Order: sequence, then C-alpha cells, then structure tokens
Amino acid sequence: MVRVPLRIFAGMCLTIALAGVPTSAAQPPDGVTTLLRRLQQAAAAGDRSAVLALGDPQISLPSFAEFANTLTAPPPTRVVVTERDRAPLDGGTLRLVVEIFTERGIEGRLGTWRIDARPGDAAVDPWRIAAVTRLSVVTGLYRLALDTATEYDIHELVVRAPDLTIEMPAGRAFMASTTDGPTAMVLLGRGRMKFSPPDPAERTQIHILSGRDDLVEEIDMAFLRLSPYQFASVVDSNALKPRAVDPSDVRSAVSVFNDLAPRSLQIDLSDISRDRWSLTPSFGDVIAELRTKKFGTLTYARSGSEPEDINVFDRKRRRNISIYTSAAKLAQRGRFYSEDDHLDYDVLAYDIDVQLNPERILIDGDARMKLKILSDGTSSLTLKLAESVAVRGVYSPDFGRLLHLRVVGQNSLIVNLPEVLSAGTELWLDVRYSGPVTPQAFDREAIQVGQSQNQQEQRIEIPLAPRYLYSNRSYWYPQSTVTDYATATIRITVPSEYDAIATGQPVESPTLPAGGGDAQRRRKTFVFEASRPVRYLAMIVSRFNRLDNMRITAGSSDVSLYLQATPRASVRGRETSDRLTAILKFYASLVGDAPYPSFTLALAESDRPGGHSPPYFAVLDYVVPGSTFVWRNDPVSFENFPAFFLAHEVAHQWWGQAVGWKNYHEQWLSEAFAQYFAALYAEKDRDGSPVPNLLRQMRRTAIDASPNGPVYLGYRLGHIQGDDRIFRAIVYNKGAMVLHMLRRLVGDEAFFSGIRAFYLQWKYKKAGTDDFRKAMETATGRDLQRFFDTWIFGSTIPRVKFSYRLSETEATVRFEVPDEAVEVPITVTVTYDSGATENVVVQLADKHTERTIPLKGRVRTIAANADNAALVEIDH
Ligand SMILES: [Zn+2]
Repeated sequence: MVRVPLRIFAGMCLTIALAGVPTSAAQPPDGVTTLLRRLQQAAAAGDRSAVLALGDPQISLPSFAEFANTLTAPPPTRVVVTERDRAPLDGGTLRLVVEIFTERGIEGRLGTWRIDARPGDAAVDPWRIAAVTRLSVVTGLYRLALDTATEYDIHELVVRAPDLTIEMPAGRAFMASTTDGPTAMVLLGRGRMKFSPPDPAERTQIHILSGRDDLVEEIDMAFLRLSPYQFASVVDSNALKPRAVDPSDVRSAVSVFNDLAPRSLQIDLSDISRDRWSLTPSFGDVIAELRTKKFGTLTYARSGSEPEDINVFDRKRRRNISIYTSAAKLAQRGRFYSEDDHLDYDVLAYDIDVQLNPERILIDGDARMKLKILSDGTSSLTLKLAESVAVRGVYSPDFGRLLHLRVVGQNSLIVNLPEVLSAGTELWLDVRYSGPVTPQAFDREAIQVGQSQNQQEQRIEIPLAPRYLYSNRSYWYPQSTVTDYATATIRITVPSEYDAIATGQPVESPTLPAGGGDAQRRRKTFVFEASRPVRYLAMIVSRFNRLDNMRITAGSSDVSLYLQATPRASVRGRETSDRLTAILKFYASLVGDAPYPSFTLALAESDRPGGHSPPYFAVLDYVVPGSTFVWRNDPVSFENFPAFFLAHEVAHQWWGQAVGWKNYHEQWLSEAFAQYFAALYAEKDRDGSPVPNLLRQMRRTAIDASPNGPVYLGYRLGHIQGDDRIFRAIVYNKGAMVLHMLRRLVGDEAFFSGIRAFYLQWKYKKAGTDDFRKAMETATGRDLQRFFDTWIFGSTIPRVKFSYRLSETEATVRFEVPDEAVEVPITVTVTYDSGATENVVVQLADKHTERTIPLKGRVRTIAANADNAALVEIDH
C-alpha cells in the first residue's frame, strides 16, 4: 500500500504524478508490449480465462489466479496497463514493473505489479507471464463529480468539527458522493463560521488576525470534505430538503466545486487517466473551505495523521493562522511530540557525488543513502528532493531498480519497495537525479534591512562575487522528510574557477582532472567527510580563497579551522581568524567539547548583512563598501559589539546542529542558546564587563514583542503579520534572557553543569524544552516546572511593584507581584552618596518578597532591575 502523505499545509494540495520513470512508449512495439496490450484487452473485457491464458504453463497458479481475479472481478469499465520499467533476467526473461489502473464506474484502483515476462520457445510463440508479484496498491480513488440533479434547501444547518462551528440558516446545497455515500458538499448562502481554539497562544494568533479571540466571520459559501462513513453524523439530514434544481444555483455550485475540489486529496494520474481522481478523507478528518468577506477563503483542516491535527490557513497568502493539537489527541499523546515520532526510516549515512554548473544552476547528482527501517510493514519510503530535478533512477543493491513517484507541487519522492520490510532492516538506496536547483538566500539569520533614503536614488550596482548556497531549504539531495542525523561523504565537482565548501572536513586538495582545453571546461572536485552525525548537508560554491588553516585545541578536542573568503571579503581575514579561534575555544571551555572535528568559516560578499550556519561550517556576509543597505533597528543587531553575529553563528555548531530540536516549537533551543552564548562571549571579550545596552535591547525588544505569544510558538511569531523581527525578538532575545534568568536563579556552577549535561545527553539528537528542564532539574535539584511555564510556555511579562524603606543601618526592599507568583531574580542596586554602588540579587518566588540589605553609608537611591537582567516591568 502506498502511504500517501496527507500533509496539508498552506497552499499545498496532494497531487501525485505517476511520471518520472521512463516508459517504453517511445520504443517500437515488441513481444512485451504485445503481451501487455493483450493483458489490457483481456482485463477490460472482464475475461478471467483470457488473462489466465497469457500465463506460462509453469506459472505458480495461486498468485496468478489472484492476479486475474483482481483485474476482472467485478468487470471493470476501463483498464490501463502501463509499463514503467524493464530489466533483463537470465534466459531472455524480462522483469517488468507495470502499473495497472482499473476503473469501475466512478471508483479507481491503481496497482503496481512486478511481472516476469518470458519469450516464447519459437519465433512465432508469443511472450508469456512467468511470475507476478503485487508491489503496491492505491484504492479508494474516486472520480468525484457534483450531483447537479439533486439540489437541497438548507434549513438551520449546523456543522461541527473540532473547535469549528459552521452555521447556515438558509441557502442551497449540492453534494458529491463515492459508492459509500456523500463525501463533498457545496453550501451556498449567508452563514457564519466560528473557530475557537482553546489554547491561549492560539487565541492570541486569532486576535492578531481578527481583533477577537475567536474567529467569527460571515461566510457566503462553504465547501466540505468528509469521510462518507462520517457524513451522516456530522451533517443533519433534517436540515437538507430536496428541491427543484435551479440552473443558476448549479452554475454557482459547479464553479465552487471545480475551483476547490482539486485543492486537496487530489491524485494526478498523468498518462494513465486525464480525469481528476480524488482520495477520500480518513474517518475523523475534515476539510472545510470557508469564503469569508474579510479574509477571502480560509481553510480549516482536521487531519488525524498530523501531530498538530487542527490547522486553519490562508492558502492564498501562504500563512498558517492556527495550528495545534486537538484536545482529543492531546489526551491520547500528551503535551510534547517530536517530528521523529512514527517515522518509517532513519538515514544512517550518505555518500554523495554532485556536479554543479553554477551559471545554469544545474545539479547532476548520485546520492547513495544507507537507511534503517523503523516501522514494521514499511513498503514505501517518502523522501524529499527538489521538484525541479528529474529523477533518473532509484536503485537498491538488494532489490534492483525501484519504482518511484513524484508528488506534484511538492519536493517529494516516493519510492516503492518490492516487499514489505520490518523494523531494523538496513538497506542502501541509490538515487540519480539531474536538473536545475535554485540556490537559497542566507535567510536563516536574515537581518531586516532597509535602504537608506538619501542613497536610494543614486544606488550603484556593486559587482559581487556570485555565490550559490544549497542547504536545508533547497532539497538539493534526497533526504528524509525531517532533519535526520547521518554521517556523510560529499564529492562536489565545479568548474575550476570556483571553490566549494560543504558539510564535513575537507579531506583532499581539489583535484584537477587531466585533459581539459578550451572545448572542455576544466573542473575540480572537492571532497568532504562528515564523520560525526549532522542534521543536514549544505554546500556553498563561490570564488573563495583559503586564507588560513590551523589546528586548535578546544576543550578536550582538536579542531581544524579553515578560513576562506571571496576576494573582497579577504580584507577581514586576519581579525576574523583571531576572533574565530577565541570564540571556538571559549565555547568548548563552557561545554567541555567541540562537536565536530573541523570548522570552516566562509566570508562571502554581499550588499546586505546575512549569515548561515550549517553543520561543520558557517558563511557570513561581508557587506562591501558602498552598499546602500543599512541595518534597520533590528532586535538582533547589536551595534556595540559587531562580532556578536559571528559569535552567534559559530555557537550554532553546538546549539542547533549538534543538539537539534524536536519540532518548530523547540527552535529556541537553537536560537536562544546561540544568542546567549554570543552574549557570554561578548562579555568575556570585554573582560567580564557587560556590553553596553545589550541586555537593555534584548529586554526591550522582548517585552515589546511579547503580546505576540510565547517563545514556544517558534516560527509562528510574527508569521501572520509577515514580520520576522517579532520572531527574533522573542525566540532569540527573550529566549536568551530566559537562560540568563535561569543562570541567576540557580547559580553559575549548577547552570553550566546543567548545560554540559544537557549537551552531552542530546548531542546528535533532537531535544525539547522538557528535556532541557529535566537536565537542569537534575543539575540543580530544584523543580523548574513553574519557571519554564512562565517564561517559555507563557507570554505574560510580569509587573512587579517595588518599594523600599530605610533605617540607619539597613534598607528593606519589598517586591509585590499582583498577578501570579513568578520565579525571577532581580538585581537591587544601592547607590550611596559617595557615588559607590552595590548590587544585591533578590530571588522572587512568592507574591511578596522582602529582603533586608545592610548599608555601608548614606543612601542616595535604590533601584530595581537597573541592569535589565529581569524580564519584568517594575512599578514604583
Ligand atoms: Zn541563529
């Protein structure tokens, strides 16, 4: 059974194309095509004995009889037999991969079969089927059509799905059915939708969109998809009364149906059938397209196979408005999940050869992957690979050439296995592919940039060294559907004027193949070896020079450092090299380890700042003089410490790469940790004195952005508004401040030993907030649940009332928290008349906290949180 990926995401629909494997259509008819044509005719006629007559006398009868039955009973209305692949076996026998599509009325069934075809003994003898094995089958395909002969009047119709109510007091309805009952419905009329997620963070997102916590909108159309088995329980039949068909209603309904039905659960059978074939929703799944006045058509989807099974999105703007786990699923699964849950396979190792033609952005690849099957009964594998490349073949040493499918509009590659594999099985796959792949921007750490007004008109085009980045968003090699730790060997061949940097340690100097000359461009090959597991593979190709190469001792490990730069960026070489060494040594001293045995820093040139930090290397943009782009007030641009950005990128080798994150909610374990480590480095670089304004800027931007939601919302912070500064303010800056507060709460020793334990436990694995909490609880012996609830899962910025009383010898400071008690350390700064200051950290844990401070002289003033180290608002 082909497991079809029913992932529904903004703007995507499921459309599978059964193209990609070359067919024999172009070849002249031969014995095999004649055999398959006869098979098609016999099956289409429903003639079982004619199918059986095509078999070799020695064929194993049970399997062949089952094959004949499947094709002919009940008699089909149409059959299409398509050869997808053939390979020679001994004695002139050919092993074919054949797709057989059988239509019975509106129902379709697509079977993939392995057929061994044997030539006849004499020249005139026809070819015969010697063996047949079913590889996979897709059932439940329907050619859905709106029933325009039956129209209904709507009377007080109410449709309920988890957290969604659709009401339509009056209107007209049409349906489309499978043989099991109705599965689609078009509702025309004035009505109302109400979407009420229970989760506070989701309600905040709805508020950002609509100004209210519930999404209550007038609608004038709804399109529903449901399982036919569930239709009766969801749609009250008393609310629908058949009526005379009105041709203008039919026109409106057909137009809605034709527009919306293809957007989900659709299969494109390309050369097999020109009709539109639809999958049926699973029991419990619902898709509702709702046309609102204010927001256009919004899509609600409940898909039980997704970890966050409720999703409201705007296809047109490609925005996820709300996505979360339903109450029913939460009760069953618990609060936390990993994107690795329920995976079918794990990639253990890669061995990849790619040739890149940079000017034409053409990649020619041969990727060998070692996989381990994780679930029993796995019969197909879904991989990711850029849709723009053509897959020339998928091979396995154990199974030979494998059938593969591509999903239209998605970077997916589905590989069918010839047999069902059980958990623990290891196999190699070899995927050969070629085609254009668009390089990605350095958008991972993109800084919001704006052009300065006065220079805008006289902007000069600055010639920049071209650079091509292929990383975690370009699907330039076949990979798992999620990031997946694996080791790798990568060989990259580029024209000789280019250089390549990739994930892994450079293992040889580039080789220049002999020959060449004008006609054949000279090329060189770079080899990289990632001996430790990496989450994904990346490469960048540009005109780099190697500026420096050294070995340093970082913590308990030796690390080879490479510094490369494009010609214009080379001016930054020396200072960067010294910085890089200092940063790496410092981080290794904090964590006690360096995760990868080598690190390459590539300085590229650009007219705007940016960076990217895949495993084993980082690229940083050197902004060339004359750039007209300026940093707009970005939350993560710290002007008092320009090396902050480099320090952040380098920290990702530990946080984000070596220690990964379980799903998008947990991204702060990468970004906030990198941000906090950069802040620690900045402080160390200044001999322990804080960087002016750093905490102030972190605190201010975090507080300002806080109404958008908790750290735990990940990429969705600012997503609805399309403003990723909000994401950086919360996930980077608030997250870093949470780590700072935690450190001040538990003390340096416990904090850093907790960090080291967390790193060691989760190195080369994906971690979650709860895993970090447990590591810190073990290191500190304290219950930290409330701390994480407040700061990571909650978005409230506590208001704290501060007052103090003075006596001759002591000051009594008092904090009051009007709302819920929070755990937060706050610095009290006593300033004496002499100008001397004294800092005392007060730990708040209750609603009232009082602390007595012995005085050393006459007091001028006492202030709370003057160092900005607490993420609270102080009221006096
Ligand atoms: Zn980052």
